[in-house]
Amino acid sequence: AWARIAARMKSEVGEVEYRTWLQQIVLGPVDGDEVTLLLPTRFLRDWVRSQYGDRLSTLWNQEIPALRRVELQVMRPGDRPAAATAEQAVPVASGRRVADVPEAPAPVVERVQDARSDLVAPLDPRFTFDSFVVGKPNEFAYACARRVAEKPSSPGFNPLFLYGGVGLGKTHLMHAIGSELTREGRVSVAYMSAEKFMYRFIGAIRSQSTIEFKEQLRSVDVLMIDDLQFLIGKDNTQEEFFHTFNALVDAGRQIVVSADKSPSDLSGLEDRLRTRLGCGMVADIHATTFELRISILEAKATASGVPVPAKVLEFLAHKITTNVRELEGALNRLIAHANLFGRPVTLEATQEVLHDILKAHDRRVTIEEIQRKVSEHWNIRLTDMSSARRARAVARPRQVAMYLAKQLTSRSLPEIGRKFGNRDHTTVMHAVQRVTELMERDTAFAEDVELLRRMLES
Ligand code: ADP
Ligand code: MG
Repeated sequence: AWARIAARMKSEVGEVEYRTWLQQIVLGPVDGDEVTLLLPTRFLRDWVRSQYGDRLSTLWNQEIPALRRVELQVMRPGDRPAAATAEQAVPVASGRRVADVPEAPAPVVERVQDARSDLVAPLDPRFTFDSFVVGKPNEFAYACARRVAEKPSSPGFNPLFLYGGVGLGKTHLMHAIGSELTREGRVSVAYMSAEKFMYRFIGAIRSQSTIEFKEQLRSVDVLMIDDLQFLIGKDNTQEEFFHTFNALVDAGRQIVVSADKSPSDLSGLEDRLRTRLGCGMVADIHATTFELRISILEAKATASGVPVPAKVLEFLAHKITTNVRELEGALNRLIAHANLFGRPVTLEATQEVLHDILKAHDRRVTIEEIQRKVSEHWNIRLTDMSSARRARAVARPRQVAMYLAKQLTSRSLPEIGRKFGNRDHTTVMHAVQRVTELMERDTAFAEDVELLRRMLES
């Protein structure tokens, strides 16, 4: 029955479409009134379900009238036939293979359909210039973004290439540019991730609408492509992007691109594309500083309306150092928790609520590292960390090292004591108390300790 159905589908949809989408279906178990068809990827499963699901059901029903359901499933590795490689799923367009389809794309029926829909992706209304907190690490990128939003296509700012690590605000700035420009509705802006660009391009090939796709792209005033590094190794899409890019720049339109690296470090992108990307303004968003993290947290806490003590903000800014998204996520969780239980945000509550996040961010500072840094700082011998000498000049740094060991590692008091010349846990406890008191009384000393902590944490 399956062979007949497959043959029927093939004659209905045509050879190319059949090979592209349906050839890889494998007949799975037939169980009473239900038949299961297996597909190698979720992408194919979703696509086949949405495009051919009804027709498949009807044909099955004609073959076996008792059949009530056709179930489409993704093959588990075990039942994947050797012949059905992802390669075969790759569509053929104008005699040239589009080799850019990744192995297992996310669930994506809507992505393919997007190809026909409007180019103007929705911009996140929260990502504005006003909500972007400016500090040393991002002030240059911010200024460039503002400039492009005020005067697109100014010489020297086209293309604008923003780059930096994950969660440092690239997407935020791009959306801010987009929102600013579209506010008055005179400028048309297309924003999309490079990944989406690829799916749209492939979708256009499949639905034989590449010309429309190109025309649409080339009709915008501002084109923004986010996370360009995604195009590494996707040669056909890269080429398409390159042509679009040139057409737009030649027509005096603005391009904004983001990536995780500078153009020259994006090895894997074609040279001519890298060269052109570096031709306008290249702006780096640096890793956040403690000060910037505090400012961001303050801004978000204020916006939330929930009072968050400065100590908690400092604690978070110390602990979560790499990614603003995670920093924000942690704060949001605290705020949600406070709202939900009607309890104020405290340091203790923070440690409890964020237990899992904090654990993942625990930089594994070792006690040895702490001892080394502290003895360097006060210019004493490392061996004095474990010696029996009681002179203030060595005893005080030793106490600071114990204090930092307690603060920065998850070691218990007895464990810490052992690392300091087999001292007793009460000695460690005493050191922690003593340093805490001193820090409250003596600001110069407190600054020293804070500085050490920061050095150890970064
Ligand atoms: P990227 O695109 O660089 O990975 P995003 O722009 O998505 O990073 O930023 C991650 C999150 O952090 C977003 O919610 C964004 O609003 C926030 N964020 C990043 N930098 C800042 C900043 N300087 N001020 C305010 N929010 C920021
Ligand atoms: Mg981003």
